Amino acid sequence: MLEPSTAVQYVRGIGPRVGEILADKRIHTVDDLLHYLPFRYEDRINPRSIPELLPGEMATVIAEVRSTNLLRTRRMPIFQMTASQGRARLKCVWFNAAYLRDKFQPGQMIALYGRVEDSRGELQLMQPQFEILTADGQGENRPVDSLEVGRIVPIYESAGQGRLTARWFRRAIRTALENLTPELPEAIPAAVRRRMNLVSAREALWKVHWPDEGARLEELEAQRSPAHIRLIFEELFFLELGLELKRREQKAHTGIAFQLNDRVRQAIKRILPFHPTTAQKRVLKEIVADMEKPFPMRRLLQGDVGSGKTLVAFEAAIVAIENGYQAALMAPTEILAQQHYFSARRILEPSGYRIVLLTGSLEDDRKRDIRRHIAQGNAQLIIGTHALIEQPVEFLNLGFVIVDEQHRFGVLQRFKLMKKSAEGAAKTGPLDSVGGPALEPDVLVMTATPIPRTLALTLYGDLDLSLLDEMPPGRTPVITRRVPDSRSPEVWEFVRKQVDGKHQAYIVYPVIEENQESELKAAMKMYRELSSKIFPGYRVAVLHGRMDPETKELTMKLFQQGEIQILVSTTVIEVGVDVANATAMVIEHAERFGLAQLHQLRGRIGRGAAKSYCVLMTGGRISEEGERRLDAMVRTSDGFAIAELDLELRGPGEFFGTRQAGLPSFRAANLIRDRHLLELARKEAGAVLSGPNTEVSQEEIDRALRQMRTRWQRSYGLVEVA
Ligand code: ADP
Ligand code: MG
Repeated sequence: MLEPSTAVQYVRGIGPRVGEILADKRIHTVDDLLHYLPFRYEDRINPRSIPELLPGEMATVIAEVRSTNLLRTRRMPIFQMTASQGRARLKCVWFNAAYLRDKFQPGQMIALYGRVEDSRGELQLMQPQFEILTADGQGENRPVDSLEVGRIVPIYESAGQGRLTARWFRRAIRTALENLTPELPEAIPAAVRRRMNLVSAREALWKVHWPDEGARLEELEAQRSPAHIRLIFEELFFLELGLELKRREQKAHTGIAFQLNDRVRQAIKRILPFHPTTAQKRVLKEIVADMEKPFPMRRLLQGDVGSGKTLVAFEAAIVAIENGYQAALMAPTEILAQQHYFSARRILEPSGYRIVLLTGSLEDDRKRDIRRHIAQGNAQLIIGTHALIEQPVEFLNLGFVIVDEQHRFGVLQRFKLMKKSAEGAAKTGPLDSVGGPALEPDVLVMTATPIPRTLALTLYGDLDLSLLDEMPPGRTPVITRRVPDSRSPEVWEFVRKQVDGKHQAYIVYPVIEENQESELKAAMKMYRELSSKIFPGYRVAVLHGRMDPETKELTMKLFQQGEIQILVSTTVIEVGVDVANATAMVIEHAERFGLAQLHQLRGRIGRGAAKSYCVLMTGGRISEEGERRLDAMVRTSDGFAIAELDLELRGPGEFFGTRQAGLPSFRAANLIRDRHLLELARKEAGAVLSGPNTEVSQEEIDRALRQMRTRWQRSYGLVEVA
């Protein structure tokens, strides 16, 4: 008997070699294999007979291979295959498919699935998917296997460059199911199963692969069959259970109860360089209300680029500082830390607050100095890159941490940051608790990713959410245009005009991975050309991630002060850089950037009262997806609309930029498609953790929590859940 946790190699027919291919697909256990779900189903209960096919429909046809033919036209090779059912013939056509030449042998039985088209009165299947039903060397009249026809058949993505076909998976999964232990533990409490109308785990696993005859194909394809719903819900339920637990745990810790009195209010008022927007006021209230409570704040501040998050963060930092604590602000890049440092000094130093900048690139002496100031409590606001928490810094009494996450950090990395910052704080105690246990600092995470609320609640399910949904006044929307490379002279002329009008411009190059030598070279070459040939007599500078920190800093400073007119840059400017006088941005090879990235980049302009322009230059072939991205950029500047589309185009994993950080990789669930179930899962998880009561027993809760931990460990790497 196979247990879900049994290594997949113990399934009959799977050896070490196949095991390796499966491992690439993250299939290690029987359970993993059983959760390798079909991406499509084919109704082969009633495969169609050739004479009854209608043009325009998608159809499954089971037929015998008759003949093949490779046609070499001038434009591309076209592969044709004729299949038959008795006398009836059906032609199948694949473009650009010379590789199919040796695929078929006359006499083989084959299942075909594709669109029926009318070609000059003759019906044919265009580019059908196919599956050879008789194995090599088997006689032509061998009966076709019953797993393959006469039922709704699951179709799987193949693996190992086609070595493990859909058919292979069908058999392997079937074998695993047949040998699966009959007693699958049920970790979802009965009350939840009842309310959600869930089928049993065993039934779900069987039917998701091998649906009943009566199953509805549309329901299966939409992943809305009872089997699918069970598997999806289960996955989301354990995710939410973990998040809910974290949230409760945090609330149970003791934190600092900051005081908001008139003195503090006055201190905040004193720094304000302008009237906060209504949204900024509301959000500050939410944050401060948390800070007053005696448990650690974990709050996410979500606001589109330019919505004014920094000011809110500074205001909140003042509350901490005025209460006698230190505050820290962590930024994802040096440039951004730099920038925050400038604005902090501009806004806070006049009131006498002491601010330091701590980044990895400082000279050792200087670092030591700054660390001493931090340890002795001379520094009140400490700004740094995330390196700040990488090597532990001794704070005298850290009470408030701002993580300027922008859109770069995923859920998991964030967990780590918080844990670290909490640990960092735990090294020292607040001044007023001599000898007592250390209190955890309040943490505010700022993100520019405009995630739909339901999703945010899950991905940041352990955080409370504040939304800055209003732009500061006096902005004029950025005008965005697409222009092909060939018209660059006009574009440069336009940039000259802007700069002659005392404004500044960015020209951005797609060096997406800063460590890609070739990309960087191309960007540098363009910079030389721009500065010497296209904009001679203008002050042009270059900025990229691999420059040494001092030069970077100087360049940014000069740009900020208006000394540099045109900044040729890589995407290093995408996060947070704030120069209101910059009114033009030209993005070269815009088709290569992701949508979120384009939106972030464009957010660098349109920050002042003057009209701003964003030119998306494109060169070369643009994919269909690329077209949609560019189109969206021209059409809208609404961060939420852009985020929705981006999510749709890229899927959640890449969207959240957390591939590397290991965003939960779901096996059945899809955060967009299944948002409704997500919310239900969240509710149910909350209900379970409120037990034990008449609905759920302690034993059920324990079982669910055990299961949750296993899942979290597997899906989220080593993230700890208490
Ligand atoms: P982001 O949310 O992208 O971090 P910032 O905090 O950098 O946005 O703010 C963007 C710009 O708007 C900054 O130049 C900031 O000084 C300005 N700003 C912020 N709040 C206001 C306000 N209430 N009124 C006018 N300008 C503001
Ligand atoms: Mg910012």
